[in-house]
Amino acid sequence: MAVKTPSASPSSADGPDTSGAALGQVTVDSVCVPAEGWMAGGFGKYNFAFRNGTEFPARATGWRAYWEVEGIPYGEEWGGDLDIEVPIGGETVTSEISRLPVDVIEESSPGIPVMAGAFTFHCNGTHMQVHFRLEVPEARLPEDTQLFCGRHVGLEMMPSHISKLSGKDAVMQWLDRVYDAMHELTGYTPIDGNLVIIKECPEHPWFAYVDGAGLPIFMNTKRIDSVFDDIERGIAPSGWVHEIGHFFDVCGKWYFWGSASVEWQANWKLCYAYETIPDRSFKAVFSPNKNLAYWPEHEVVLDARQWVDAYFLFTGDPYLADPARKWDTLSSDELHSFFQRLVRVYGWEPFKRWYRTYDRFEKLGLTEPKTPEGTIQLIAAILCKETDSDLVPVFQRWRMPVTREDVEAMNNKYPIKETRGWEVKSEARRCIRRSA
Ligand SMILES: [Zn+2]
Repeated sequence: MAVKTPSASPSSADGPDTSGAALGQVTVDSVCVPAEGWMAGGFGKYNFAFRNGTEFPARATGWRAYWEVEGIPYGEEWGGDLDIEVPIGGETVTSEISRLPVDVIEESSPGIPVMAGAFTFHCNGTHMQVHFRLEVPEARLPEDTQLFCGRHVGLEMMPSHISKLSGKDAVMQWLDRVYDAMHELTGYTPIDGNLVIIKECPEHPWFAYVDGAGLPIFMNTKRIDSVFDDIERGIAPSGWVHEIGHFFDVCGKWYFWGSASVEWQANWKLCYAYETIPDRSFKAVFSPNKNLAYWPEHEVVLDARQWVDAYFLFTGDPYLADPARKWDTLSSDELHSFFQRLVRVYGWEPFKRWYRTYDRFEKLGLTEPKTPEGTIQLIAAILCKETDSDLVPVFQRWRMPVTREDVEAMNNKYPIKETRGWEVKSEARRCIRRSA
């Protein structure tokens, strides 16, 4: 669906009164991606191509958009600032992601939902608005989905699609064990023990996403074949495992301080499952792009336990070697690298108790720290207690804002105590106590 917009005319309200003819034209072409549209209540993308036919450089400085029903704006507007250069005679393409609300589809029926809005450009000393209108159809799968239930994890897919997967039963059993492992690590039982469902849905901008408690993992129909290929080759469906990991952040508000920490935590649970599941039939693929310590010539298939170390242990080295980088630039994988090293020293036991400490705080009705610094200081305080070690120097080596005074302040604020009496039977590795 592409809607060509009329050329811009400068708005006298927004800048000097300059004639559109003298300025030439800045145009916006908008395209719905994918062209078939977006799932009801789901996400989709739109590409905007800016073309500058004027004799002056132009810069997109902002945009706004809204849904339109029968030609009238419907619901809240969204948008924001931009800083995108459009060279003279040139073209710049940008894209945005939005959600297609169910009520917009209902209100637009039997017509096609329309998104409208405008971009603001700064060109030759003036501001101009260029309007756009874009049809966004509701996308549906070509057939109804069918749910296949495991003990904890279900696959809900088009029958014609899932019939291609000969290893369905084996992978579903393995996914149940992934769930068991994540429960063992965290102690949490997400969505009251209801089935975690991986549901095929129309194409969207990602591989899969989690959209709130009680909802399935929305799996992009266009990406399923590659997962099936992996499963048939004995490669773990890592994207699914990662998304299941997100479900286990029942107390996530206590240890999240941004998207890097959220993604680290999903992979964290993936790694625990990869390391501890007795069934080693599913392997992991390592691509030679992550660290200097392990650089195979080609993609290699590893036992998932080795993959964890090959992928994560050295990933933090470039950060450590660059003093200009502050702790708030740590990527998900770099954060993971830091904590994975602690696991190699102390095992997973302190981290099991770390999750249960937050659960205890929740039950006591306590309130989580409100700043990223407070969040990492509380993480450090709990891990110092649970490892029976002074971890402040290692947090500081990673330039995290943690001092002994901060740890002490957290100990005064929260009832952090060793939960060492608590046991996980299947965990053979014991926490190493530092001899003091
Ligand atoms: Zn994620």
